[in-house]
Amino acid sequence: MKGKEAGKPATTSGKKALRRTNKFTEIQETLSKEGAAIFLDKTGHEDLYIDFPYHVNYVHSYAEDTPFFLGLAEGKLRGTRCEPCQYTFATPRVHCQFCGAPTKWVELPLKGKVHSWTTCHYGSEAFLKETPYNLVIVEFEGANSVLLSRLKACTEDQIYVGMPIVAKFSKEPKYLITDVWFEPAPGAV
Ligand SMILES: [Zn+2]
Repeated sequence: MKGKEAGKPATTSGKKALRRTNKFTEIQETLSKEGAAIFLDKTGHEDLYIDFPYHVNYVHSYAEDTPFFLGLAEGKLRGTRCEPCQYTFATPRVHCQFCGAPTKWVELPLKGKVHSWTTCHYGSEAFLKETPYNLVIVEFEGANSVLLSRLKACTEDQIYVGMPIVAKFSKEPKYLITDVWFEPAPGAV
């Protein structure tokens, strides 16, 4: 059918020509350049795709988690502790998950060990620029639970369970979990 072949521009009422393609990879490429494209499937069905920037200002409250994020800006890792259970949460909980009692904020050591890790070859928008990146689960002396963070300044094949690592903090805190990450301790790799 004339004008409906993949790869050929189509016209609509003599207006701007839209690229037609049967490859999704070309859709993304075309959208970033031209703002619209038509995906043409094997049966000749047409789907119009448009580039539609979408921005939301999300007003978010950290509420009772506030001390954790303020701590990152001060170069501190804060966990919480339940006195009745003698349990320290490295991922802070303002109430104990075992007995429900309110916990107290405590400062965690800035040194920890790799409990487990994985390498992410895809990530959400905030992490795309640093993909692939390494996620680690961090153990701390004196804490009973663990913290999920990123491990930088080393390659995947250098990481091992038990690897000593140290917390690093952004010099320009944005009050996000990305204000902290870990790097190998000196001599660890
Ligand atoms: Zn408790």
